[in-house]
Amino acid sequence: MAWDFETDPEFQEKLDWIEAFVTEEVEPVDVLVGHYADVKNPNYIKLVRPLQKKVKANSLWACHLGPDLGGQGYGQVKLALMNEIIGRTVIGPSIFGSQAPDSGNAEILAHYGTAEQKERYLAPLLNNEISSAFSMTEPQGGSDPTILQATATRDGNFWVINGEKWFSSNARWAEFLIVMAQTDPEGPPHERASMFIVPTKTPGVEFVRHVSIASFDKDGSEGYLRFTDVRVPADHLLGGENKGFAVAQTRLGGGRIHHAMRTVCRCRSLLDMMCRRVASRFTQGESLSRKQMVQEKLADSWIELEQFRLLVLRTAWLIDKHKDYRKVIGDIAAVKAAMPKLQHDIAVRALQLHGSHGVSDEFPFVQDVVASFILGLADGPTEIHKLSLARQMLKRYPTTSDVFPDYHLPQRRERALAIYGDLLDPT
Ligand SMILES: Cc1cc2nc3c(=O)[nH]c(=O)nc-3n(C[C@H](O)[C@H](O)[C@H](O)COP(=O)(O)OP(=O)(O)OC[C@H]3O[C@@H](n4cnc5c(N)ncnc54)[C@H](O)[C@@H]3O)c2cc1C
Repeated sequence: MAWDFETDPEFQEKLDWIEAFVTEEVEPVDVLVGHYADVKNPNYIKLVRPLQKKVKANSLWACHLGPDLGGQGYGQVKLALMNEIIGRTVIGPSIFGSQAPDSGNAEILAHYGTAEQKERYLAPLLNNEISSAFSMTEPQGGSDPTILQATATRDGNFWVINGEKWFSSNARWAEFLIVMAQTDPEGPPHERASMFIVPTKTPGVEFVRHVSIASFDKDGSEGYLRFTDVRVPADHLLGGENKGFAVAQTRLGGGRIHHAMRTVCRCRSLLDMMCRRVASRFTQGESLSRKQMVQEKLADSWIELEQFRLLVLRTAWLIDKHKDYRKVIGDIAAVKAAMPKLQHDIAVRALQLHGSHGVSDEFPFVQDVVASFILGLADGPTEIHKLSLARQMLKRYPTTSDVFPDYHLPQRRERALAIYGDLLDPT
């Protein structure tokens, strides 16, 4: 019977290498290098490129990809365990070739790009020579992609795109965008839009603003973009006309699991900081660690973290088992919906236990609290993922016209008597 929680020794060796590498070489770079998408920045080139070489030399580059694209084709459980370590740093995913949104965009290009597009966009993207962005959300709506307003109309051998996009992460550094636009506004809601490659330098692509997330996002990493008569060649349509929703699904599968394990890792760091703080902070005659309300915070954090970790690993295991994301949609939605609350609750406790230090910008906690809200918005708000989970759950429950269901006690008793009634003493 296969039911165990151990990593095989061969893969454990790789995890041990990653652990030492991240601790000794990646973590110091994390506090020095600029934004991870600014791949042409001289500091990025000096600090990140040598580390990427080491990862490649250890055959750990872009492990989520199949061997045809230079990866290892690792299953989701292995990737989850790797991301649990890599996620301790912001720059880590770039050093291991799996940073968002490039990893998802690469999946789209690998599936739907022409040979020429793979050479022009995919190859340099996989090599982290360029970065990219994904433009779906618009200023008037994000949760419901059926109400998008940007349009693409065919004009000879070109598509002409008009409209606005909001919160396109990393767009300011992107060589190209993958843009969703309506190609059949009168069609059924999920067959109205298509996906396009749009090189950022195409005439008509305008940055209205670089929007910042709170005050710590000094770069303004979220692009507010306007498209005015932007012409892209006809073959820059990805995955067929009006197939934008199907294409969008391509990029979400494993990415959510990797993100969840990076969150586990981040929360473990926060819990570690909490423990270190209370172990050595002294107040009102004793160590903070002796106060029961403090101990409860630690225990709650540990329990919530381990519960979530098991949910994520079980989901990863199910993906590997079924090899079909559609069979695990509900589990993936559960992971996505549970993730923001985990980080929020642990970050808030860590902030509180660090007192005034906790709210200062010399510690990471305020950023972690904001990050927990980002987890609940980016890639769709929590409410939508809960709806998706509930829909999957309810598929197993057909409606019935019986007013009294079979779990109604009188019915249960009747059935039980039919089986065991003869054995009972008459009353
Ligand atoms: C840091 C960050 C990065 C992002 N990066 C990208 C990116 O790269 N590309 C991109 O296209 N988009 C990106 N987004 C946008 C993200 O996908 C949207 O913010 C998200 O889908 C919500 O859309 P909205 O902001 O328009 O909110 P709205 O659609 O206006 O929704 C507002 C709120 O209403 C509630 N709500 C919505 N629907 C329901 C419902 N059915 N039931 C109950 N409550 C509901 C939720 O609380 C939701 O947060 C990013 C967002 C963030 C915060």
